[in-house]
Amino acid sequence: MISRFAPAPTGFLHLGHVLNAVYVWRMRRAFGDAVRLRIEDHDRQRSRPEYEAAILDDLAWLGFRWDGPIARQRERGDLYRRAVDHLRAQGLVYACACSRADIAAAQVALEDCATDAGELVYPGTCRDRGLEDGPGMTLRVRLEPSVERFVDLRLGPQEQRPYRQCGDLAIRDRAGNWTYQFAVAVDDLEQGVTHVVRGADLLQSTGRQIQLARLLGRAAPPAFLHHPLIMKPASGVTARPATKLSKSDRDTGVRDLRAQGWTAQQVLDAATSSIIAP
Ligand code: GLU
Repeated sequence: MISRFAPAPTGFLHLGHVLNAVYVWRMRRAFGDAVRLRIEDHDRQRSRPEYEAAILDDLAWLGFRWDGPIARQRERGDLYRRAVDHLRAQGLVYACACSRADIAAAQVALEDCATDAGELVYPGTCRDRGLEDGPGMTLRVRLEPSVERFVDLRLGPQEQRPYRQCGDLAIRDRAGNWTYQFAVAVDDLEQGVTHVVRGADLLQSTGRQIQLARLLGRAAPPAFLHHPLIMKPASGVTARPATKLSKSDRDTGVRDLRAQGWTAQQVLDAATSSIIAP
């Protein structure tokens, strides 16, 4: 069993990451062979070396030890280009000139498609335009309508329709960054990840990653476990609903808790005792 811990260096580690690490390393202790550490710095505009350094330092302080070398997405361009070639050879890749605003404007006509609040469904505008790839263009992969079924190790049987959720997936954005969905599907395949253990906020990404991995030649998808998230409680005063923790919640940042004199054990306890099931 090979799992991975895959933080994005776009902020400091917070209790949500700590809870994820606890789940990943518990699986490792119970049945695992290895945990890979993958720095998900595909977004070159938002990733910063100082965040990466802080993440590594906090992980070591908390006692999490990974196996093998650290993988960094910014160093894996050749791998991603080879994966694009593999998809291109199947006639699945095309360049797209649509902006986010163009895609948003097309949503009205697609009302029965959109699923998650806030997620835009790409309407296929450039699918058959034969546009040339170049700076400022998005690269997309054609997704045939499919039903992706998997059994989440905690949540049980799941069924997702990626094409209806998001339309043809972006694999490289207009700024030239590989997208999260694409980089993860390539990396999980290339690193031999057999168990993906992550928060329930990523559940809706799983069907599309399974479909993409199949197009990339993966014979069997990894197993998935989506664990509960630490939520900030709802506020009756401001009528704010319960929300998941984010990097901007500085009060739960491992750095800040360390500076306040917390021990590693206290941080681990705080992460695992503050779960509110989704
Ligand atoms: N990089 C993602 C994050 O920091 C995790 C991706 C994943 O586990 O698939 O939220």
